[in-house]
Amino acid sequence: MLKFLVIAAACFILYKLLTNDRKKKVEVKKNNDEQMAKEGVLVKDPVCGTYVSKDSDIRIKDGEQVRCFCSYECRDKYLKMIKE
Ligand SMILES: [Zn+2]
Repeated sequence: MLKFLVIAAACFILYKLLTNDRKKKVEVKKNNDEQMAKEGVLVKDPVCGTYVSKDSDIRIKDGEQVRCFCSYECRDKYLKMIKE
């Protein structure tokens, strides 16, 4: 019985470690994107919220601002949005 408890506890701790690690990695990735966006390396796709490179080929001029998109699909959606 004691052996079973020890194994269960070990599994629980291992599970916790694995899930925490995964959460941290996702947070770090998100922070990196936001940091790069602040530095002007990445810009946010206004349609889906993905961060894309400022050098992205898929871009339009919207008044004074240049908007970059992750895909032509997002660009077309944005063009539709501003027309309406
Ligand atoms: Zn997009």
